[in-house]
Amino acid sequence: EQVNLTVMMQNILNEVALELEEKQITASNFLPHGLTVSGNASLLYSIFRNLTDNAIAYAGTGISITVRCFREDERFYYFSFSDTGIGVAPEHLSRLFERFYRVDKGRSRKLGGTGLGLAIVKNAVILHGGTIFAKNNPGGGLEFIFTLCKE
Ligand code: ATP
Ligand code: MG
Repeated sequence: EQVNLTVMMQNILNEVALELEEKQITASNFLPHGLTVSGNASLLYSIFRNLTDNAIAYAGTGISITVRCFREDERFYYFSFSDTGIGVAPEHLSRLFERFYRVDKGRSRKLGGTGLGLAIVKNAVILHGGTIFAKNNPGGGLEFIFTLCKE
């Protein structure tokens, strides 16, 4: 089915509006009007929803979240999902997508969660022909770069 990711992302931000306000988080959806891919709506939703929930849960208060499509070629859209929060220690970056992997057991236990979110994200991206990786931004905060097949 054709899925409008711009509308989907806007819906997610509306769904978490209260949490954003509680944590004084600013979220910007810079996806262009009508950005659409063909795929599975609930899997695509799980990508953007898990990344949003994680930024709210772990990045900190007063941060900002930015979603953009920074490139497009014949086959793919290229997305950046970033926050200005605390990021993760570099040794964790490559392991974030493993099932049940959590960075700070103590802190994370308090915050709940099972460590499955990013494994689900990665699977959903792969099922849509894409790839994903995470990096810390020089200015601070975690950034996820991923691609999704247009068709
Ligand atoms: P679940 O998603 O199943 O509820 P979870 O959020 O702990 O549990 P993941 O979504 O896979 O699991 O995330 C793995 C870990 O990555 C988190 O426990 C957290 O430590 C870290 N993490 C994820 N996103 C961020 C972020 N935006 N900033 C800082 N740390 C993050
Ligand atoms: Mg999560």
